[in-house]
Amino acid sequence: MFNSSLRQLGAVLRAKKISSVELTQLYLDRIARLNPALNAYITLDQEKSLAQARAADERLANGDATDLTGIPIAQKDIFCARGWLTTCGSKMLHNFVSPYDAHVISQFNDAGAVNLGKTNMDEFAMGSSNETSYYGAVKNPWDESRVPGGSSGGTAAAVAARLCAAATGTDTGGSIRQPAALCGISGLKPTYGVVSRYGMIAFASSLDQAGPMGRSAEDLALLLNTMAGFDERDSTSLQRDREDYARDLAQPLDGLRIGLPREFFAEGLSSDVAQAVEAAIAEYKKLGATVVEVSLPNSGLSVPVYYVLAPAEASSNLSRFDGVRYGHRAPDYGDLADMYEKSRAQGFGAEVKRRIMIGTYVLSHGYYDAYYLQAQKIRRLIAQDFTDAFRQCDVIMGPTSPSTAFKLGEKSDDPVQMYLSDIYTIAVNLAGLPGMSIPCGFGADNMPVGLQIIGNYFGEARMLNAAHQYQLATDWHSRTPQGCKETT
Ligand code: GLN
Repeated sequence: MFNSSLRQLGAVLRAKKISSVELTQLYLDRIARLNPALNAYITLDQEKSLAQARAADERLANGDATDLTGIPIAQKDIFCARGWLTTCGSKMLHNFVSPYDAHVISQFNDAGAVNLGKTNMDEFAMGSSNETSYYGAVKNPWDESRVPGGSSGGTAAAVAARLCAAATGTDTGGSIRQPAALCGISGLKPTYGVVSRYGMIAFASSLDQAGPMGRSAEDLALLLNTMAGFDERDSTSLQRDREDYARDLAQPLDGLRIGLPREFFAEGLSSDVAQAVEAAIAEYKKLGATVVEVSLPNSGLSVPVYYVLAPAEASSNLSRFDGVRYGHRAPDYGDLADMYEKSRAQGFGAEVKRRIMIGTYVLSHGYYDAYYLQAQKIRRLIAQDFTDAFRQCDVIMGPTSPSTAFKLGEKSDDPVQMYLSDIYTIAVNLAGLPGMSIPCGFGADNMPVGLQIIGNYFGEARMLNAAHQYQLATDWHSRTPQGCKETT
């Protein structure tokens, strides 16, 4: 059951071979057994999950089930869910029970999916290792001495350890793709504006995008069908006709043109990751694709540009956490200014404070033109590089992350090393393009390697097609970590 695809689960539920309540209970029991070591979930509410499962069973009995009715899905703790503790991995929100549902949550609720719990994450989604969470680090199920990646590390570990059928993540600079790569699962960041950000706690609003994380491209297509769609409550939500993201899965890959950016295969890439990615490209050639070298000349600037723009937006977005409206308030304080200062000093962790300081600095009078404005101009050039590259190819491929999962603590004292984890993913967010990561082998230390696939704007169906055909020909995506193998 724990290795079944979403389609298979949907079929057994509709055939009444298992009820949603039974399936949900199986997952909750497995979580109780395996989660204490992994720390992938930070909030569970058995009663709420089972109530949703009972409602799903009624829908299944009435014959009005959707593809996801009755299926247990985990939600990153960045999504507001009514009646659920929603912490965003921060002490600042340790006591915040959301009074409303994020758009993504209500889409899953409408489809009849079961919310299995909230997954751990880097504080306010700032990080690449899940070590900045107020609730403690998440362990990588393939090797518990290593990080799962971040910021959607709890989700990635939960999917890899089969602690949910599938889950959600968010990606501002790589937080879906990098943890997917490090945990050996599949994850997709859609084109900016395809999934509503309503009720998703904001980090850097011009970059944040929610997306699905699961065990296969086919599962991601079903999840994206549920998550995507216009929402008037998000001013950047795109008004487009609904798409079936699974429509092209079965298309053969003959004639697919793959662009390989020369800058992605240069210095800084570990040789074991390079080898696995090259083997994946060779497999694509066997499947009928052709390969062309492309160039993204400004991609080397994406990390510095991101670390100006993302903190700038974060410093503005996080100003709402002031100890007054909601969240943590310092127990002892003098006047109003003291209350703000103490509440924020106590509520935020070190990485969040670092970003707020960088952000307010680059936006300050006298530095705005030198940093913020300059970064915006380079952002435009980075986007243009992709537009030029897509004249020659249908999808771009390369590594998701420069190395496999590193050891817990290895980079936590060196922010710049940590920031470089996203060197291949960040440009995609700056350009607003869709990107995904799928497992494509194992590195020297037997840790999973991710292949990144980048699509043109609204190219999700094409990327999913390319990923699915690869997954039909290979079995990297169905490998399971030792210790998570037992199934029912
Ligand atoms: N690792 C990047 C950061 O720390 C990206 C995070 C994300 O995508 N949410 O900002």
